Formats: sequence, C-alpha cells, structure tokens
Amino acid sequence: MNTLEFCRVLPKIELHAHLNGSLSEKTLKSLGCLNKSVSEYQGLTSINNKIERTLHECFELFKIAHLATKNPDSVYLAAQSVIKDFADDNVRYLELRTTPRAEDGMTKEEYIESVVKAIKDSKKPLVKLILSVDRRHDILVSQNTVAVILSMRNKYPDIIKGIDLSGNPHLGCFDKELFNKAKENGLKTTIHCAEIINNDEVMEILNFGPNRIGHATFLNPNYSGSIENWESYCKKKIPAEFCLTSNVVCGTAKSYKEHHMQEWIKNGLPFSINTDDKGVFCTSLSEEYEHAQNNFNLSNTDLWTIAYNAIDHSFASIQEKALMKKELKEWKTQNQHQF
Ligand SMILES: [Zn+2]
Repeated sequence: MNTLEFCRVLPKIELHAHLNGSLSEKTLKSLGCLNKSVSEYQGLTSINNKIERTLHECFELFKIAHLATKNPDSVYLAAQSVIKDFADDNVRYLELRTTPRAEDGMTKEEYIESVVKAIKDSKKPLVKLILSVDRRHDILVSQNTVAVILSMRNKYPDIIKGIDLSGNPHLGCFDKELFNKAKENGLKTTIHCAEIINNDEVMEILNFGPNRIGHATFLNPNYSGSIENWESYCKKKIPAEFCLTSNVVCGTAKSYKEHHMQEWIKNGLPFSINTDDKGVFCTSLSEEYEHAQNNFNLSNTDLWTIAYNAIDHSFASIQEKALMKKELKEWKTQNQHQF
C-alpha cells in the first residue's frame, strides 16, 4: 500500500473546513451557479501548473463559491454534498465552519437552519458546526452575528459548538469583547491567527486564549513571529490547525517542505492537519496527510497519532471523544500490518 492509499483508508478528523470553499466543482455545477461563474471557477482552479495563487485571487474565488449558496435549499444541498465528500474520504469526524449570511429572501437564522438540517440528515461522519464572524464586517454587524449564533446554539446545542474569526486577514481586527461574550456563553473558540505578519494582533489573540488557532503561519520566530509571542504560545500550547496546500497555493508558505508545521513537530507542540477549502485548493484530507508524510518524514504511526490527537482538540463531547478514540484504536489493531 503506498502513502496515499494508506492516507485514504486511515480514519481521519477534520477540524478546519469552510463550507463554501469546500464545494467541489461538481457540486457547484449541480447547484446551477451562473455559467459565467462556473467557467471563471474552472479557470481559477487550474492550479496544477500554478505554484502560487495570491490571497486576493483566493478571495475572488470564495466570492464565486458564495453564489452557490444564496437560498436555504442550495445551502442545504451544498452542506449535504460537502459532508458526503468528507465521508467518502474516510473522515470520521468533521467540524464544518461557515459565516451565517443573510441574502435576498434568506435570514442568517435560515442559513444556519439549512446547514443544521443537512448535518442532522447525514448518517456519517459525526459533524459539528462552527459559526464564523467575518473580519471585514463592522462591529454592529459582528455583534448581530454573535447574537444570532448564540440563539441558534441554544436551539441546537449538540450541533453548534464553536465560533471562529475568519475572512481576509488584511481587513478588520480581533475583537476581544465579542469573543469573550461567546466564550462566557459556553461556545468554544477558534481564531484564524497570524495569517499575515501582525505580531500585535497575535499577542491579543494569545492573551485571549482561544481553544484552537487556525494556520499560525507567522507565529514562530523563524517565520517572522516575535520571540515574546512564541514563548507565550509555547506555554499555552494552543492546538494549531494546519492547512498545508492552502498556505502553499496562497504563497504564505514557500513550499510544503518549508511549511511552519515543522516547528510544531520539532517542539512537540499540538497540531492537526486539515483542508481549509478543499474545493478552492483542489485537495482532500487524505492528500494533506500524504503531503505531511512526504515532506516531514512521518511514519504511518505518526499520521495515525496526528489523527488520534486531533480528537482531543475537537469540540466534541467527552463521550463522543471516547467513542472516536476507541474506534481509532480498534482500527489500528485491525490494521497492525500497516504500521
Ligand atoms: Zn480557514
């Protein structure tokens, strides 16, 4: 069995997947996006010959993917199809994240209802929802989003587990008050952190102390992070969510081999491997594990351990975590010849 085959059969945990960016080209077509948008999308996803894509291009692509989810029915179909893609890739636990959007004839609440319904209707994998605050929104819009998230969490406490800060890292800033409110109300927090060099904001995020951080690209001092922030991070040991292809394609990591994940491996710090936007970046979680193995000399046991440790980083309940750990251990015993 070669590396990719092993990565495909390995039961995996996905903690950082945006709904809209995860839509495959096939799903976008079946959702009947505008033809122009589909062709633009196709053009932009021809990334095999292109090593770098600018952040600007990526965000253009996300806008196109958003066109596919403009009403409750298409949001439902989109979520259903993304969940199925992950199940087909042997993902046993998925945390899907999305920003609740109000569109013509659709409220933020209806948007969330549609995603929750798709999650409830799916048989596998186990799926939890993280709702995002977009960096580009002003404080009033963001406060409204948090109020909606909290009321919907009260309605679906077993599904809506966390809140995230995401969007263009050049816009807006981390608002501690907003995330404190979410935290005090029992939501888990994950923050896109250090996607660009911004040591002041990174310090604020670390002082806040989220449950997880996304990307952590420019946090280590070898990657333009401040020594002070890195020392603080090493004490707090906040699990990082890494998305290798996303960083390489956007050019924030020079190559897979030069990805900052190596600093976490070297220092024994907690991390998970994730896809970010598998549709936009033409990847899958299995392929992300394969890149990690090929570029950081990881064994099959290392990959299994990364998946196993991600269970503890997840926002699942204690009982759900125990069941997943049992499942992964049993799988390892049954597949001992692979290790
Ligand atoms: Zn992300």
